[in-house]
Amino acid sequence: MRCIFCKSESTNSKSVEHVIPESLGSKTIVLPQGLVCDKCNNYFSNKVERPLLTHPSFRNIRAWYQVPNKKGKLPSVKGIIAGEDVDISLKIGKNGKFIIQPEEEKFRNKLEIQIDKAANGEVFSPFIFKLEFDPPKKEMSRFLAKMGLEFLAFRFLKNKDLIEFLIDSDHYDPIRNFAKTGNNSIEWTYSMRKLYPIETKMCHPVTGELVMAGFGYDLLLNHRRESYFIFLYYGFEFAINLGGPSIKGYEEWLEKNDQISPIIERNGAKVVKEIIDGKDTFVIRGDLDLNTGRIFDNKQLKEYFI
Ligand SMILES: [Zn+2]
Repeated sequence: MRCIFCKSESTNSKSVEHVIPESLGSKTIVLPQGLVCDKCNNYFSNKVERPLLTHPSFRNIRAWYQVPNKKGKLPSVKGIIAGEDVDISLKIGKNGKFIIQPEEEKFRNKLEIQIDKAANGEVFSPFIFKLEFDPPKKEMSRFLAKMGLEFLAFRFLKNKDLIEFLIDSDHYDPIRNFAKTGNNSIEWTYSMRKLYPIETKMCHPVTGELVMAGFGYDLLLNHRRESYFIFLYYGFEFAINLGGPSIKGYEEWLEKNDQISPIIERNGAKVVKEIIDGKDTFVIRGDLDLNTGRIFDNKQLKEYFI
């Protein structure tokens, strides 16, 4: 067994690799022991995933939608009180309301408020925190590079020859090295666009109830035979080219296909605005074929596994 990143012998490696980190709510897309060696696994978790997932862009959304980290702990929110940056914890009270409390002692005595979860997470005086999403570019592209190569390996799992090809092919060396070292001489461009509001819902594939549309992912092969890893996170869509640092081919694909999303409309689904319980609500309707590798908001899907 060899590691898909450093190509070293990895038969004795113990860790399994989560393609989508558990801290984003995913438990299902896992590579077997050794496909990512212990050393690379640790490196990615400390140097690529942690800095990005604790950045306010990810952290505030994870806290607001109650996505715990792999130890089951909910992240705090990064916010502002009286002009100072502070960490604010969010807990769900017995009455179902959010209890919001600054973590720092000096603010603790004056502030503890309760709000309805439905209030939508924007600005609450005297607390200010926002669900803004503007992740740091270098970290985000390395994160996408790592997930993309691993997802390709996940698709190849049943075929040993394809895994060997993925490891030996120099076609994937640039993205491998970029994920592994963050090579400073390369800027690995990715596409990011907002497709629908953060609050958008989808139908639970088993029970049919409306749940948060958390994240999704897929591969797209375009007419140039470039493969793109597509990642959808609370309405934001990212695309990274696994063969080189240009997204020209993706932009061409979007232009030819009326800017549709490879994850939503390409599969016959669409986002529509409906009035539910008297409120305007965005919902993804239509068939989402989960067998192609998508999963939405694992936690709210109540352990629905593909
Ligand atoms: Zn390795």
